[in-house]
Amino acid sequence: MATWGRKVFTEIIKCRAFPANWKRKLANRVETGFSSYLISGGTWLRLISPKTSICAFLVVLGVIFLSVCACAGQISAAEEQHINPEIPVSFAQSSGTGATQLATAERVSVLQISASDKDGSTTVEISLSGRASFSSFTLPDPLRLVLDIEGAVLQSRPDPILINDGIIHRVRVGQFNPSIVRVVFDLSRVTSYTVVQTEDKPDVICVSFPKRVTGVEFFERDGRAEAVISGEGSLQYETLSLSGPPRIVVDLPGAVLASDAIEMPVSHPQVTCVRASQFQPDTVRVVLDLVKATTYSVSTSSDRPGEVVVDLGYRILGAEFSGDEKSTTVDVVSSGNPEVKFMVLAVPHRIVMDFENSTLDTTERVIPVGDGVVERIRLAQHSPMTVRAVLDLNYYAGHSTAVDPTGRGPKVEVFKSPIAKTVIVIDPGHGGMDPGAIGPTGLQEKAVVLDISKKVATQLQAMGAEVVLTRSDDVSVALPERVKAASNVRADAFISIHANASRTGEPTGTETLYSGTVSMSRVLAESVQAALVSQIGQVDRGARERNDLMVIREAKCPACLVEVVFMSNLKEELLLLDPAFRQKAAQGITTGIMSYFQWRKDRQSQVSGGRDEKLPVTRDDAILPADNRAQSKEVVQPEEQSGSGEQPQSGDQSQPEDQSQSVDQSQPEEQLHPEDLSEPDDESRPDDMP
Ligand SMILES: [Zn+2]
Repeated sequence: MATWGRKVFTEIIKCRAFPANWKRKLANRVETGFSSYLISGGTWLRLISPKTSICAFLVVLGVIFLSVCACAGQISAAEEQHINPEIPVSFAQSSGTGATQLATAERVSVLQISASDKDGSTTVEISLSGRASFSSFTLPDPLRLVLDIEGAVLQSRPDPILINDGIIHRVRVGQFNPSIVRVVFDLSRVTSYTVVQTEDKPDVICVSFPKRVTGVEFFERDGRAEAVISGEGSLQYETLSLSGPPRIVVDLPGAVLASDAIEMPVSHPQVTCVRASQFQPDTVRVVLDLVKATTYSVSTSSDRPGEVVVDLGYRILGAEFSGDEKSTTVDVVSSGNPEVKFMVLAVPHRIVMDFENSTLDTTERVIPVGDGVVERIRLAQHSPMTVRAVLDLNYYAGHSTAVDPTGRGPKVEVFKSPIAKTVIVIDPGHGGMDPGAIGPTGLQEKAVVLDISKKVATQLQAMGAEVVLTRSDDVSVALPERVKAASNVRADAFISIHANASRTGEPTGTETLYSGTVSMSRVLAESVQAALVSQIGQVDRGARERNDLMVIREAKCPACLVEVVFMSNLKEELLLLDPAFRQKAAQGITTGIMSYFQWRKDRQSQVSGGRDEKLPVTRDDAILPADNRAQSKEVVQPEEQSGSGEQPQSGDQSQPEDQSQSVDQSQPEEQLHPEDLSEPDDESRPDDMP
């Protein structure tokens, strides 16, 4: 029993059909007491059930049968797998070992050898009449890749296949010895390669080579530097930045340089040299030697997958500024004209410029300006390919942009505010115990005008003015106090804000009142009236002179009183109820004030050393702003003209005393504004009290 068993298992060990580790274990058993194992195994067999014994016996029979078959030359599945590796064979692995796998005894014919280009990668296919094993290795001087197909015969000797793709010069085939067909790849340079024989096509041996990188170019176009790596087929890439010396490295895995190593010195402010070489058998490395570290982007486009572009972008070289009375112009100096995105931000006021596809190429990060509107210019590399320039402003009064015709980047003109550093008093009418006019739905004038006034104040402050509100809450403020508030701060302008009312609900529209006692008040009133009407689009009742309103008559500075619309008209009351309308009204008043100060500034610069108080102001002078002059011709509507010649009827006892100062029935709204009159008359209007 023991001798017979030893023979069987010795045959098994000899047979290639069994995995090596299994054979090693069995051999171990044979060498170290195989007999005792069988005996003890037999004893064990007797102890277990008869059915199991039969099964075990059948297994042993099966093993014996398999071993006999394998020795007769058949290849088991395990061996096929072993001799047909599907893993890539790299140059480095195969050249050193020269490993060969044994072929079968059967001869196969080499039917066809063909070369093709698959997405930039050369592939050579060898078709056989059946399955064959192979081995591959390389030979130097001249550089060759050798593929030996074992157990194969060549029926006829084909002509060499010329490829000349920069990597493979040609492919030759010959009968190396009676049982080996040798395929020789004459190589132009060291390369990796892959030999594959798949299960679904076991009669085809496929030799493929990496994608080819054909060259590198460097150029600057419109102020933008680019290195373009050209290849055949879609290239993959990995990038890294190295320092000491600064370099941009682009590795192209699975690629081979189809030329000798490239070293291309360039004359550029950012780059000194562009190099390309075969970094590893299957990796091409492209290096940009930099003057100093810089940001960059690397990309391929879908329509040009064989190009890898290293984009150094535009260079932002710094910022310059110049200015005059009206504006400050900031010129961000660039190597070209990058795309710029502008943003205006508040709190604090800033203009932000984002230069796309750009790198900051200056050490200057903060440029102080301090000319009243632009405080400083700041530059930063905001993101890898975006440079951000920020203009810190004292206020924002608008800007315009233009492209520098010399192609040095955009200019931004920041407008100076005509009200910068002026003091403006805004007087919300009424307040506290005095609700002012009350509309048909019950809306109180004091609340509406306070809201509009606060909005105006905010807007004026944003434009650089110092603003004083005569009241910022629902409190009573006497008329003299309002006047005093303006003189206390030596205001440059005083604007009282009201909503109109009449005894009937019919009158509508906007008007602005001024007193002839103060020089320039008419210009201020006309500016505000024109801008307000333009903004809210209601009936233009004009700017009118009224000398009976204390707050504008007693003011020591240009002053006006705005009647936004009629509270007493239901439609206009509903407008006043709308916050968006109140915002528009505030904007109109602000614009009017701005336009007045702009006009005053222009006059001052025209009259050398002149101050506005000394300017000759006449009733018909030409000092009106051009855009307001046209308006002034239309401000008096026919219905008001009929009443404009009427004189105050101070003795009319049938009217409340405030009416006595203005009996013009077309202007009845003043009657409901006792506080605007020269005489406070709280006692006379008990019915106005809440
Ligand atoms: Zn009022």
